Amino acid sequence: MKKINLLGATGSIGRQTVEVVKEHPEQFKIVAFSSGRNLELTRAYIEELQPELVCVQTKEDCETLKAEYAHTSIKFLYGNEGLVETAVYGDSEVVVNAVIGSVGLYPTLKAIEAKKDIALANKETLVTAGHLVMEASKKHGVKMLPVDSEHSAIFQALQGEKDKNIEKLIITASGGSFRDLNREQLKEVTVEQALNHPNWSMGAKITIDSATMMNKGLEVIEAHWLFGISYDDIKVLLHKESIIHSMVQFHDSSVIAQLGTPDMKVPIQYALTYPDRLPLSSKRLSLADIGTLHFKDIDFERYPCLRYAYEVGRIGGTMPTVLNAANEVAVSAFLNHQLSFLGIEEVIEKVISQHSSISNPDLTTIMEVDQETRRITQSFLK
Ligand code: NDP
Ligand code: MG
Repeated sequence: MKKINLLGATGSIGRQTVEVVKEHPEQFKIVAFSSGRNLELTRAYIEELQPELVCVQTKEDCETLKAEYAHTSIKFLYGNEGLVETAVYGDSEVVVNAVIGSVGLYPTLKAIEAKKDIALANKETLVTAGHLVMEASKKHGVKMLPVDSEHSAIFQALQGEKDKNIEKLIITASGGSFRDLNREQLKEVTVEQALNHPNWSMGAKITIDSATMMNKGLEVIEAHWLFGISYDDIKVLLHKESIIHSMVQFHDSSVIAQLGTPDMKVPIQYALTYPDRLPLSSKRLSLADIGTLHFKDIDFERYPCLRYAYEVGRIGGTMPTVLNAANEVAVSAFLNHQLSFLGIEEVIEKVISQHSSISNPDLTTIMEVDQETRRITQSFLK
């Protein structure tokens, strides 16, 4: 029985993690989980999963649940400190980090110190401080197990392979909700249209990131850290069907790809069963039914956010931290109807242009830069 601490249980990845666990009750047990503000689903999961620890975002919600479950021995916590305690709790082997944003960084570092393997969906953690996370995981002998579908595909393609034989990583991109629109047409798009992703059903922030292609940019940085590959050897390829989830090209010209119907439960489960596999009730791929797959090179003029990600990744230091924080604020402003869709990239460009990178930043510097960037981005919104 593998014990799991799940951060972000009520989100899109969190809910699918619960579904995977429910498919294999004899294999997995969620002993601690965190949620944000969704109390209704938190209650449902308390009943269903019978956890030992539950963390919510606010003190009031925590008090409410404590009173409701006074007859149980469940421990209730809240806020960022509670999130850390959830991450390091008990003798769980693995932490699934499915929270959104750089709030996931500190709990991840603490879980690594507690020698728990990390099944990482929360890509912002690696974008914000990839050098610290990878260094800590090596130091403590902890596995970083990718949940992001592209990185899981690369991870699967690399099984039995030597890193020295990798020539190139090829990350596929669906193109998001607006892949068939030109830049002129992007001026008019609404939040509702942006939230309508053609292939994947995901949380709001990542759906917008997919539409701006910032998601792919964050994934390029994530891949750089996870697999130790230079930015010159990471290529993004448009592939609108989301059937090939990514590929690795080797020095002998061989390319190994991982395929499947778009279903996040597959990479979530692989992160939990690695290096083994378990059956899963996911829809089987029928290439005959699909018939044709399409591929196209990326136009960096059409997708400036992807270009920014390569640029800040190559500069390194605190630049990716700034990109991530500016993006989190800008996307949130767009979702709140305070910023137009194209305003997202305009604001991000202004914020990254004014920052001078600090090289090899420690955790305190990262956190300060993250907070300062949020303030600066807000000021550009006014
Ligand atoms: P969601 O927005 O659906 O879920 C986020 C989760 O985090 C929810 O449980 C939410 O709680 C909780 N949360 C939000 N803010 C806070 C906070 N400040 N403190 C503590 N908890 C918080 O996100 P997704 O599941 O879509 O994405 C999660 C991560 O996985 C992201 O980094 C994303 O990029 C990555 N990812 C997601 C994919 C997907 O298919 N969704 C695919 C690949 C990667 P509540 O809802 O209760 O308020
Ligand atoms: Mg992805």
